[in-house]
Amino acid sequence: MIEWHQEAVSVARTTEIARRLAGLLFPGAFLALDGELGAGKTTFTQTVLAALGVERPVQSPTFALLHSYQGRFTVHHLDLYRLQQEEEVLDLGWDELQSGEAIVLVEWMGLFPRLLPAEYLQLSISYAPDGRNYDWIAIGAPYESLLKELMLCC
Ligand code: ADP
Ligand code: MG
Repeated sequence: MIEWHQEAVSVARTTEIARRLAGLLFPGAFLALDGELGAGKTTFTQTVLAALGVERPVQSPTFALLHSYQGRFTVHHLDLYRLQQEEEVLDLGWDELQSGEAIVLVEWMGLFPRLLPAEYLQLSISYAPDGRNYDWIAIGAPYESLLKELMLCC
């Protein structure tokens, strides 16, 4: 496991980090995004998706729960905020979504910690007086390598 804490991240730096992350994501990668409403989970996702070449506008999936996109990779973007039971998450096709080469980005993953895969990258965003604090956790060798690379850049 590797952890990385970033203090007072500005919107501009968020863009830089998200773009860099997009270049490091690999087929089948799983990114858990946590943080209060308005912390910046969807904004971060939008930047990652744009950098992956997704052209159609990205909406917050809070109401749709799941949006799938085609860019350089297939990307599934989920928001679990409105769900209460693990069964509801599983009913979205949870296992199938992770079975292939698609990249999976999940907002509010912290609500369902038992559904985390064995290896993943997690970004927890919290409010800071000037921007946002970012707390990254990488579990599993591929994600640890990714996070080490990300730490070099921004
Ligand atoms: P969430 O999906 O976590 O509910 P959103 O991404 O919808 O949050 O909204 C986040 C809001 O905070 C947006 O208005 C965005 O411009 C702003 N924001 C995102 N990242 C930062 C940042 N690093 N610093 C300051 N404001 C930010
Ligand atoms: Mg959101």
